[in-house]
Amino acid sequence: MFKPHILIVDDDPDLTDVMESVATSLGFEVAVCANLEKLQTAYRSDLVAVIIDMVLPDIDGVEVIRWLAKQGSTAGMILVSSADKKIITAGTKLIQERGLRLIGSLQKPFVPENLNALLNKARLPGTVRHRQRDVILDLEGRTPTEDELVVLFQPKINMQTLDFCAVEALARWQHPVKGLLAPCYFIPAAEADGSIDVLTDMIVRKTLQHCNQWMKAGLLLEVSINISARTLGDVTFPDRLIALLQRYEVSPAQIVLEITETWLSDEPVECLDSLTRLSLKGFRLSIDDFGTGYSSISQLSRIPFGELKIDRSFVQQAPNNRQANKILESSVQLGHHLQLKVVAEGVETKEQWNLVNRLQCDECQGFFIARPLPGDSTPAWLGRWQTMQCDMRENSGNEHKTTENSALGC
Ligand code: C2E
Ligand code: CA
Ligand code: CA
Repeated sequence: MFKPHILIVDDDPDLTDVMESVATSLGFEVAVCANLEKLQTAYRSDLVAVIIDMVLPDIDGVEVIRWLAKQGSTAGMILVSSADKKIITAGTKLIQERGLRLIGSLQKPFVPENLNALLNKARLPGTVRHRQRDVILDLEGRTPTEDELVVLFQPKINMQTLDFCAVEALARWQHPVKGLLAPCYFIPAAEADGSIDVLTDMIVRKTLQHCNQWMKAGLLLEVSINISARTLGDVTFPDRLIALLQRYEVSPAQIVLEITETWLSDEPVECLDSLTRLSLKGFRLSIDDFGTGYSSISQLSRIPFGELKIDRSFVQQAPNNRQANKILESSVQLGHHLQLKVVAEGVETKEQWNLVNRLQCDECQGFFIARPLPGDSTPAWLGRWQTMQCDMRENSGNEHKTTENSALGC
């Protein structure tokens, strides 16, 4: 009878004995190795799982992960180590970033039942979690046409007043065959092939059309627009943007331009040129995905930012992860020390809402409030929010505590 194969890369004989007996009792065929030469011999493309110890005498866990990724292994990876918890966390991240399938991790010493549970998971068919920017869909090298481009708007709430104060414009592609596509399917491709400038102009035009309609309906909202560093590198962009604003009678003071933190690591002079001019013309600049890039404090103070958006990964992990909580708290403090408005993005639960409220974030955005909405539905959403706002105020003390059903799932 065929038995599924697993590989243990560990040099501790006592522990490998335990792991081997757990695995064989589950019906796996087990091979054990502890150096590169033996790994190369024992490796097979049909492995269902590899158990990796991070600390080995001849080769370390990072090298094992790199080697397995190079083979294109589809096995599920289990990290088992006595190393510091932070090293195990870094190792699991590395597995995912290298495109391998992560099953889980165990800190030594562990109880056999926990390994048992992870090995049972290895039997399930798994998918490799690719990073968003690596997602490839056959779109025939196309980007959306004006008719296919859709802009949705996600509400932002002022945490002090609970007022609906702003929206973020988020692009979508209504593809004739593939359906509604998220930006990760076409923005990186447009950045790579240079069509991002044309695409950004289309996104800005559609956004301003809605802005103009909302103003006519008496709704004055601040609107955030995501701008690629590549577009900022074009020094003619500020003039094009201003011309569009004039056409739709929108003031630069109403517009926030969100720029991801990652571009700050290079800081090309053209981007600095565009950002400084845009700031002079009255646009507010926002650092997006804060905490994921490499900006230094001097860069943050040199570039005229007015807002800091904390990346949603910290917001979402903070209630249950001490480190993410500390990063969130110090990011809010840093933003406030630099006189920046601090926005928490990706708030999905009441617990996260309460936390960012307690940390005194200025604005909040996320599925707990609303999902991105079509522009035409935005004024109606305001009406619904006003009802919710009253309920939330009635149920809140000084900390604006929210009710269980306060999320407006839209
Ligand atoms: P971003 O600027 O960080 O935008 C926020 C993303 O988080 C949006 O994803 C939004 O739908 C999602 N989001 C908001 N609240 C929650 C929540 O509570 N939970 C979760 N899980 N997600 C939430 P989306 O629309 O897929 O956009 C992804 C990224 O694509 C954006 O990240 C932005 O970097 C880029 N992008 C979107 N629209 C544009 C655009 O018009 N131009 C450019 N250059 N980039 C854009
Ligand atoms: Ca953004
Ligand atoms: Ca963001």
